[in-house]
Amino acid sequence: MTCPRCHKTPEEHEAGRETDACIAKVVMGYEEPFGDAWLRHYSTRIADADEIMKKWENEGRLYHLRWNGKNYMVDLSKSDEIYAVYSVEGDTKEIAICRAALMASKEE
Ligand SMILES: [Zn+2]
Repeated sequence: MTCPRCHKTPEEHEAGRETDACIAKVVMGYEEPFGDAWLRHYSTRIADADEIMKKWENEGRLYHLRWNGKNYMVDLSKSDEIYAVYSVEGDTKEIAICRAALMASKEE
């Protein structure tokens, strides 16, 4: 149940360049090393986090980004099982999206 790149759980990933690198490698499938100018800010910029959601759409997944009064939550379907859902939270939309992506990629 850990990230293959840094060996933390998805919930232990905080906003920043380390998480951005984990997303690039584990979720997007890019090869390291990542140049700083090239690496997207998935965990801190919503336009970059949107690339993750676009990828889910291309994979045929369903997702729901919501605010529960305290944190952002992402519910994300498994690719072939609509009723099996990953639910992950974070204090920003971006980190919630990143954690859901890491949660979904590690078991598939
Ligand atoms: Zn990681």
